[in-house]
Amino acid sequence: MSEALSRIAATIAAQGPVTVAQFMAMALIEQRSGYYATRNPLGGAGDFITAPLVSQMFGELIGLWCAQCWEDQKRPARPLLVELGPGDGTLMRDALRALKLAPEFRSQIEVVLVETSPVLREAQARALADTGVAVQPAESVDAVPHDRPLFLVANEFFDALPIHQYVKTPRGWCERMVRLDSEGGLAFAVAPVALPPGRVPANRDGAPDGGVYEASPAGEAIVEEIAHRIAADGGAALLIDYGYATPGFGETLQAVAAHKFCDVLAAPGSADLSAHVDFAALGEAAGRGGARACGPVEQGAFLTALGIVQRAQKLRDDEALMRLTAPEQMGALFKALAIVPKTAPAPAGFA
Ligand code: SAH
Repeated sequence: MSEALSRIAATIAAQGPVTVAQFMAMALIEQRSGYYATRNPLGGAGDFITAPLVSQMFGELIGLWCAQCWEDQKRPARPLLVELGPGDGTLMRDALRALKLAPEFRSQIEVVLVETSPVLREAQARALADTGVAVQPAESVDAVPHDRPLFLVANEFFDALPIHQYVKTPRGWCERMVRLDSEGGLAFAVAPVALPPGRVPANRDGAPDGGVYEASPAGEAIVEEIAHRIAADGGAALLIDYGYATPGFGETLQAVAAHKFCDVLAAPGSADLSAHVDFAALGEAAGRGGARACGPVEQGAFLTALGIVQRAQKLRDDEALMRLTAPEQMGALFKALAIVPKTAPAPAGFA
């Protein structure tokens, strides 16, 4: 039994079934045996590949997008360039290289990397050691310095945050739990007591029995906090992830190891877990924080508006262009949401 599995089993044995969100947090982030805490999952030899690893164009265009937002907002003083869940540091490295084209922004920024994994924090420090830009780590968004304009990017970060799942039953919406089965493995169960009607979002009416809806209060809380800061101090956030523009009834929690799907409960700690991002919920959270949400727009359209076709011609990399923008590849499932102050113009790619 893996270390993560025995920790989770011990918790359930002691306190009863846990929510899917607790299970995800223990499997992914727990410091001694969590999936992200103990490895670099990215790349051909790892478990999955992300857009920055497909091509340098991705980080380059995003870096220049941040500089453009800074220009649009009349160059606010002391900008922070923040990345959530920077993985192996590739996106930020490519962004900082491209930002040599925007030297006034580049010379004023301080970079803050929000990361929980010690292994990835080290990889990020190595990747950015020779960029000449001050880089500091932070454990959470709360630990990012306050009272400064925030230019923030997050790619495939929100899909890794814990989600709750609710199942429609004849008794109402019941939270899905994770319990121990008779052999000491993990199995799903449904909480005996239904959610009070007031806790079920209105757009969930009409679900069939057995229908599932997912919610990520952790993701919404982070977006609300970011929006609050952007509304107060200026800046812009760019959230890119795979997910849906309007919510439906279906479960999207998935496990991936060695580039293949696997059972969600079978190998906690050694498989990546992620779920589709509910962009409508994140957009509403940005509104609650007092800022303006733009989009979501599909990744293909977004990158095309930023000039990826021309950049791909220069680099002679048609394959990466297709991978990032073609609708049957990453172009349509992946979406971008931007958050800006209510008074700021719509950022590039969101007009
Ligand atoms: N953005 C990178 C990596 C995506 S993988 C890329 O596109 O390649 C998800 C990243 O988020 C990892 O760096 C992981 O360690 C980090 N992460 C996951 N949950 C987190 C949390 N709650 N707080 C901070 N970082 C987290």
